[in-house]
Amino acid sequence: MFSLKGIKQLSAATLLPMAAAIALPAQAAEEVNIYSARQAFLIKPMLKAFTEETGIKANVVFAKKGLIERIENEGQNTNADLFLTPDIGPVYDIVNKGLTQPVKSEVLVKNIPTQYRDPNNEWFGLTTRSRIIYASKERVKEGEIKSYEDLADPKWKGKICTRSGKHTYNLSLISSMIATHGEAEAEKWLQGVKANLARKPQGNDRAQVKAVKEGVCDIALGNSYYFGKMITNAKKPEQIGWAQSVNLIFPNQADRGAHMNISGVVLTKHAKNKENAVKLMEFLASPLAQYMYAQENFEFPVRPGTPKSTLINKYMGEFKADDLSLATVAANRSKASKLVDKVGFDN
Ligand code: FE
Repeated sequence: MFSLKGIKQLSAATLLPMAAAIALPAQAAEEVNIYSARQAFLIKPMLKAFTEETGIKANVVFAKKGLIERIENEGQNTNADLFLTPDIGPVYDIVNKGLTQPVKSEVLVKNIPTQYRDPNNEWFGLTTRSRIIYASKERVKEGEIKSYEDLADPKWKGKICTRSGKHTYNLSLISSMIATHGEAEAEKWLQGVKANLARKPQGNDRAQVKAVKEGVCDIALGNSYYFGKMITNAKKPEQIGWAQSVNLIFPNQADRGAHMNISGVVLTKHAKNKENAVKLMEFLASPLAQYMYAQENFEFPVRPGTPKSTLINKYMGEFKADDLSLATVAANRSKASKLVDKVGFDN
C-alpha cells in the first residue's frame, strides 16, 4: 500500500514531466500540419521555402482520398490545420460539412482575385488550371473546334474521349455550363457530348490524350497542366509522344473564355496552429511561392502578375479565362452530378 506521503512523492515525480509533456504542443507551436489531397511532392518545394523563411516546420499527411472524412472523424482532436486539395469540389465539400473557419487576411485578399476565393473567406484558390481541349494534330484542323459548345456538334460523333462525367474536374466544367446556359440547355449539351463519345468514359485525363495519339478518338478533354507533365516526362517518355500528337485548344476565346478551376486551401475548424497556418496560407499566395508553383507544377499562378513557367508560356501563351466565380461553379455541382446521371453519361 502507498502511504499518503508516498503518493504525494509519486505525484511530484510524475506530474512534473507530465506538465512538461503537456507544455510540449505549445512549444512545438512552431509547426503547421497539412492534410493534403495534392501529392506531397507538388507542394514540398514551397513548404521548404516557407520553413526556411519562417522557421516554422510544415508537416504533410498525403492521401488522394478520405482526408475530409478523416478530419471529420478526428473532430476536435484533428492534427490538421490546413487542408489542401486540387479542385473546387472537395473545397466545397469540407466547407459544407462545417469543418473550416474563415480567415481574415489582407494578404490573401490582395493576392487572390475575387473569383478564386470564397466571399465568406472560408476557402482560397492557390493555383488555377483550365480544362482544355486536346485535339489530334493529324485529324482535327486548326479552328475546327473552338468551344465547349462545339463538343456537342454531331460532326464529332464517335470522336471524343473523356474520363467519367462524375469526376470532380468534369463536374466543375458541367457546373460552369449550367451557370452559363441554364440547366435545360446544359442538359441538351451534355446529351450531345455523350452522343459523340468514342467510348465509355474511363481512365484519367492523360489516358484520353493517349487515346488520341492511338487513334481511338480525335478530341479529348483534360486539365491544362497535364500537358506540361506529359511533355517533360523523362520517366515515361511515351507520354512525350502523346503530348506531341495534340494541339491545345483553350475554348471559348471569342466569348466568355476557358473554364477555370483552382487548387485550394482551407483552415480547419479545430486548427491547433492557427497563426502558423495563416502564415503558410499567406506564404503560398506570396510572389515567391506563386512563382514556384508555376515553375514546378505547370499550373497558372493565382496571383496576378506572377510569371508563368517558360514551358507553359511556350505552348500555351496568353489566353482568355472565364471569370465565372468558383463559388458559382461550386454551387452548381450537385445539379451537374444529377445531369450526369440523367443523361447516362457514364453508361
Ligand atoms: Fe489532376
